[in-house]
Amino acid sequence: MNEDLFRVLLVNLATGKGRVELIPGRSTAIGGSGLAALLFAAYGDPGRPWHDADQPFILAVGPLTGLFPLMSKTVSAFKSPYHNQYTESHAGGRSALALRFAGYDALVLQGRAVTLSCLNIGASHLELKEAGFMAGMNALAAGKVMRRMFKGNSGHRSMLRIGQSGEIGSAMACINVDTYRHFGRLGGGAVLGNKNIKGIVIQGDSTYPLPENKDYPVLFKKVHEMVTATDMLRKYHNLGTPANLESLNELQSLPWRNLQQTADSQIEGITGERFADDTLLRNGACSGCPVGCIHIGYVRERFEEKDNRYLYRQVAYDYEPIFAVGSMLGVTKAFDVLRILDILEKVCLDAMSAGVALAWATEATDRGFLSAKETLVPLKFGDAESYMTAAMHLGTGENEFYRVLGQGTLAAANSYGGADFACVLGQEMAGYATGEVFFAAQALGFRHSHLDTGGYSYDQEHKEKDVDAAVSFLLADEPDRCLLTSMVSCLFARSVYSKEMLAECLKVTGYPELASNLEVLGEKIRRHRWQMRFATGFNPDEITLPKRFYKVSTWKGPIDAAYLDTLKREYGRRIRQLVEKEV
Ligand code: SF4
Repeated sequence: MNEDLFRVLLVNLATGKGRVELIPGRSTAIGGSGLAALLFAAYGDPGRPWHDADQPFILAVGPLTGLFPLMSKTVSAFKSPYHNQYTESHAGGRSALALRFAGYDALVLQGRAVTLSCLNIGASHLELKEAGFMAGMNALAAGKVMRRMFKGNSGHRSMLRIGQSGEIGSAMACINVDTYRHFGRLGGGAVLGNKNIKGIVIQGDSTYPLPENKDYPVLFKKVHEMVTATDMLRKYHNLGTPANLESLNELQSLPWRNLQQTADSQIEGITGERFADDTLLRNGACSGCPVGCIHIGYVRERFEEKDNRYLYRQVAYDYEPIFAVGSMLGVTKAFDVLRILDILEKVCLDAMSAGVALAWATEATDRGFLSAKETLVPLKFGDAESYMTAAMHLGTGENEFYRVLGQGTLAAANSYGGADFACVLGQEMAGYATGEVFFAAQALGFRHSHLDTGGYSYDQEHKEKDVDAAVSFLLADEPDRCLLTSMVSCLFARSVYSKEMLAECLKVTGYPELASNLEVLGEKIRRHRWQMRFATGFNPDEITLPKRFYKVSTWKGPIDAAYLDTLKREYGRRIRQLVEKEV
């Protein structure tokens, strides 16, 4: 093994041919996020738009994938249809292990297939199969067809596919991964759609030798025990992240009805316990993860009116989707939440963006900016049936209004009015109305994600308004997260994978140089990612927060507008400094 080389499969979709390249850079890029930025720098063009056929779509895994528990994520990277800038989106399922067992650190798709196609790759095969008959097919149906088209060991095979939303270029289109996981945010589905790729099958059909030294099994056992025999990760298996609904509601930090409220007594219908008691069928897990945080409930559908036969479908749930199509839409019955999620799953829309966008459309209707002429169904907070129809319209781009809304809530507000109450923080907000620090953090964060930094937890622990302390916290939190996403660790395991533990893991798996450089590598990768982002047009000064965020009241009282503005300005200034400073 050469410690410094990445093994990357480059696929030219226009010709259907590929080649494997050995690319140096492991010692500075590690894998995952760092590798994706390195590959975008090599194969992307910051100046050309996201839909230029030559822009790459990248999947990358890390050096510990397949060797330690919860090293289960794949980083996708692309120029986003949402803001035309470089971004990442992360997913688990079987994708990471399949790529590793196919023998690759990364897959790079270049060009555009001549017709709608599915790509099938493995250790020694590459097949681009015409799939015009799949046009307009929803993501679940596409999965069924792909399983028949591409036989193989299902345990070692990962299936990525898009629904109608990706084919029409919606900036909220996600990529479904192995049914219950997603590259969710910032429009990766539209990038595949633009490349004429309906689905990707990754066959992990080779072997991956384990380290032969005696320290590896000892360390593996230690990590496995930390993950399974301690309380460190148990909460994610039990109620899972939906446990946060009740606690954030109590803290007056749960967005309700387009963030017109931050708490509501109707929370009982959508708590983590309610979902577990009434809807939970089973837990699932990403490959290589003994935790199993994926909660899978069910929806029931009658075959026909007056027919007593039912069809049951399994639908995964988490905190974020429940917030987005539950509290944010005033939908307070667990089964109704799952029925809306089931539609979003089929059309393959990011549930968070779709829910927040429909919440805006509902308030815009209440205020007279929109009517049923645009929305086709009358939107009303709490009306799950209408939201199911609207979710379908949004995913298929049923009319001009839904096509514009699919480009983002602010895009729609710019056309129809109502920008003041668009709940957008760089993209549609995540479910944390915790206060000024989170609002500034998501608005300016690299992925506009609640996972970029711990801004939401900082808000919950700090009442004082100290701009320097808050911004310093956000900046200090990011490099360690970059390390983890470069290793492709699930971020739920951040309490297990301290820098010291990561260094031990790297040492016993043959990466001593990486192990000794972790302190500086997180910072380097963070900087490189931001360089790519700035090169593609990011300007923190251009990001403004809609007025709604200044009207919110949390457990700390009303938002302090001056504090929020100063935080945002200072955070933006210091992010820019990171990119400009000499290192
Ligand atoms: S904890 Fe959940 S998301 Fe993380 S790797 Fe395990 S199953 Fe996947």
